[in-house]
Amino acid sequence: MDVRICSKVACGAGASATLTYDYADSMVVVGPLSTRVEPHGYDLCARHAAVLRVPQGWRIVRRDPPPRTPDRSAS
Ligand SMILES: [Zn+2]
Repeated sequence: MDVRICSKVACGAGASATLTYDYADSMVVVGPLSTRVEPHGYDLCARHAAVLRVPQGWRIVRRDPPPRTPDRSAS
């Protein structure tokens, strides 16, 4: 599997989030790095995902990473 890097020009940091534009709803969805390349998706590093700006009238929807398997070491 190839290393995914941030799609911002001149960044080059490892990607940790995937951005998906939903043009129908004027919505940008920021979620965990997708396991497959989406046609309208952009990979971003954590820093650029955090400072993301969207066009006026658009909104950002942030999706949490999927829950991990139960952690037995918590006790
Ligand atoms: Zn970046």
